[in-house]
Amino acid sequence: MAKTTGVDIDAIIAANQRGPAGPKCNVCIALERMADDVRAKVQAAMDDRDRFGNRNLCDIINAIGVTSASGMPIEVGHNGVTRHRNGACAASRRHG
Ligand SMILES: [Zn+2]
Repeated sequence: MAKTTGVDIDAIIAANQRGPAGPKCNVCIALERMADDVRAKVQAAMDDRDRFGNRNLCDIINAIGVTSASGMPIEVGHNGVTRHRNGACAASRRHG
């Protein structure tokens, strides 16, 4: 039987939990700002990883021309789309 020598497994596990969910990313904000029917179509494309790559999603969202509450255009980058799809932003908590 293997011996654990001086390893505080409880401390290691406690130190390696998921951190709090990150802030909403630009993709989250852009999705929130879209009309419901538009958001549903973008979300369907987002979920279809076979047909839509991160750059495709980026182009789709930027082509829609979403603006922030203050009227500024919201530009998303493919890295942002990647993070959003991978659940590295606040969206991760909603998807579990
Ligand atoms: Zn997001």
